[in-house]
Amino acid sequence: MPKLNENYLNLKASYLFSEIAHRVAAYSEAHPDQKIIRLGIGDVTLPLGASVIKGLHEGVDAMASKETFKGYGPEQGYEFVRDAIVDYYARNGITIHAKEIFISDGAKSDTGNITDLFDRDNVVLIPDPVYPVYVDTNTMNGRNITYINATAENNFLPMPDENLAVDIIYICSPNNPTGAAYNKEQLKVWVDYALKNNAVLLYDSAYECFITDPTLPRSIFEIEGARKCAIEFCSLSKTAGFTGTRCGYTIVPTELEFTASTGAVMNLNAMWNRRQSTKFNGVSYIVQSGAAAAFTEEGMADCKKNIAYYQENAKLLADLMTRKGIRYYGGVNSPYIWLECPNGMESWEFFDYLLNNAQVVGTPGAGFGNNGKYFFRLTSFGSREATLEAIERLEKLL
Ligand SMILES: *Cc1c(COP(=O)(O)O)cnc(C)c1O
Repeated sequence: MPKLNENYLNLKASYLFSEIAHRVAAYSEAHPDQKIIRLGIGDVTLPLGASVIKGLHEGVDAMASKETFKGYGPEQGYEFVRDAIVDYYARNGITIHAKEIFISDGAKSDTGNITDLFDRDNVVLIPDPVYPVYVDTNTMNGRNITYINATAENNFLPMPDENLAVDIIYICSPNNPTGAAYNKEQLKVWVDYALKNNAVLLYDSAYECFITDPTLPRSIFEIEGARKCAIEFCSLSKTAGFTGTRCGYTIVPTELEFTASTGAVMNLNAMWNRRQSTKFNGVSYIVQSGAAAAFTEEGMADCKKNIAYYQENAKLLADLMTRKGIRYYGGVNSPYIWLECPNGMESWEFFDYLLNNAQVVGTPGAGFGNNGKYFFRLTSFGSREATLEAIERLEKLL
């Protein structure tokens, strides 16, 4: 009999979004005539931009002729995409090198797979609340997790203190679900902490494109010293609407290395390269052709248009909260509105209340961690019509 990975027994029984789907399905079945508006899952709704579509078509055409057909590509991604990302970062004033960029099918896989590089015996620091993938993947590996509280008191931006003793630190900024974004001074404190304590920072910048405040950093590599302690994960999912097209990238600086117990120096860029070459065969040429187009100036201009549309939705939702006197966070440098459930309701209670009385679906904060128990996430990724209709219903209800 195989010995199973019993760490799976420690995972929370139901993944957040399946529980939501389950409750929505039960409600729909009981009330088949009610129209439900979904502002729950963080999934985009606008079609891909014109440049990306053109890039994808070019990719398809290349596959149709003998001269340009592509078989297996480099596991790390095609040079033309890595170079396009180097240029994209350079336009934002950040120097990274093509060999530090690894193209993948998305940031969910990479933030989960990165755990392959670390021993089980590490203390992992994860903010509460946050994107559930960090907790679940480390739980699958049986790793010890320490939580750091993100609460209204610290504006959902927890900072390290002297007593903190951890090896691996996850940061998601702008944050899913709270919408909070660290400034440069705050990230410098985290980088200095990591350097001083020989820790590694795993920085998820999936929402960097939603940053509107020009003083806020869009990459951890804007912070001095980060090249010696940080890995950055990013994705085209929210930037370019690639949630269904699938493409992301991870940046592992060549300077990032630690000394092994044998005294050998282990380089994380070399390790990730080895890991990806062994377990991954690259992203489809067609998708990479579309991805490269997204990183051009023209492609980014298309992306910005879609992002501006979602930002307007966020503003409309935020204005509703202001009118109703409901305390909320995010919505400015983030597509999410993180609101305090009214009348002291708990998040699942508020979920049921909105579903039953307004047929609006959001995401209960409890699904992102204990500190989300009295909070609720609404996304701006819906259509304008759906967002406006949800606002109209909530205007009456709340
Ligand atoms: C949406 C999201 C991602 C992107 O995941 P993909 O696999 O690239 O679609 C990564 N991190 C966070 C925090 C997210 O919310």
